[in-house]
Amino acid sequence: MGENKGQNRTIRINDSVLVLLAIILVLILGAAVYIAPRYSKVFTAYFDQKEIYNTAAAELKAAQDENASLTQQLEEFKTLTTELETTRADVFKQAAQLEKDILDGKSDKKICYITIDDGPYKRGNDYLELFNKYDIKATFFLTTTNGDKLPDQADISARSMYPEYVRYGHTIGNHTYSHDYGSGGIYSSAKAFMKAVNKQQDFTKEATGGYTPEIVRFPGGTSMAGNQLGAIQDELRKAGLGWIDWTIDSGDSWGADKATPELIKKNVMDAAKDQKIMVVLFHEWSKNTVDSLPEIIEYLDKEGFIFLPLFKDSVMVSK
Ligand SMILES: [Zn+2]
Repeated sequence: MGENKGQNRTIRINDSVLVLLAIILVLILGAAVYIAPRYSKVFTAYFDQKEIYNTAAAELKAAQDENASLTQQLEEFKTLTTELETTRADVFKQAAQLEKDILDGKSDKKICYITIDDGPYKRGNDYLELFNKYDIKATFFLTTTNGDKLPDQADISARSMYPEYVRYGHTIGNHTYSHDYGSGGIYSSAKAFMKAVNKQQDFTKEATGGYTPEIVRFPGGTSMAGNQLGAIQDELRKAGLGWIDWTIDSGDSWGADKATPELIKKNVMDAAKDQKIMVVLFHEWSKNTVDSLPEIIEYLDKEGFIFLPLFKDSVMVSK
């Protein structure tokens, strides 16, 4: 028995073992073939997901940073707006004092309030350029007769012009939304007038990001309001709004043939001779006005006029 021990330990591979091994091998291979692609899909999905989440996380972080930066910018903007309001109020306070000194004979300065009605037009840019060149400020009484389109350039939104007037320090006034003084129009009742005024206030605030006009110019002037004038003035006072006509009509709306640059210049220069604080009426659509303004400005400057934007506390503004 003892000497057969080694032989007994020899593994004898017989047929049944081979079959068993073959089955096991097939099972393992089968499992591998079956499972591997599934796991591979799982892994691919995992890595895809991970990439998506990483991208999302990065985007979220960027958005948060941007948000923080925007919040900061908004705060800075609010501060700037407050500073601007304070500065504007200071300038107007000094202007009011100057008006008083002029009227009291304590100053030999003179003031010219240039007012431009009926905009915005694309031509408004010519005025802005001109006023920048001479470093003077004016007042634009805006209306929205053509909807959110410029009357002289229909593919440009009227809205886009509004911030330009504010940017350069000019005053925006309210010339009513519809400018409709025909029968059944703004002068049919105080209610109709205020509706057109309020609509224009809203449009201006929205287009400028918060600028609120304080002065109204009646389309055609206060005389057009007829027997509604008193009721309209009461409503304007209630709304905290002032209103203004003009002391000089440049004549630029007297018809294309008549309103030549020569006539416009003559009208303004002649009338300016006996005025110390004057409000001159022009119209934004008039090319002849753009052409005549440089000479008018240079002449008035020599005559001692300074050009200011209108403000509600001005003696020229009724309230
Ligand atoms: Zn007008």
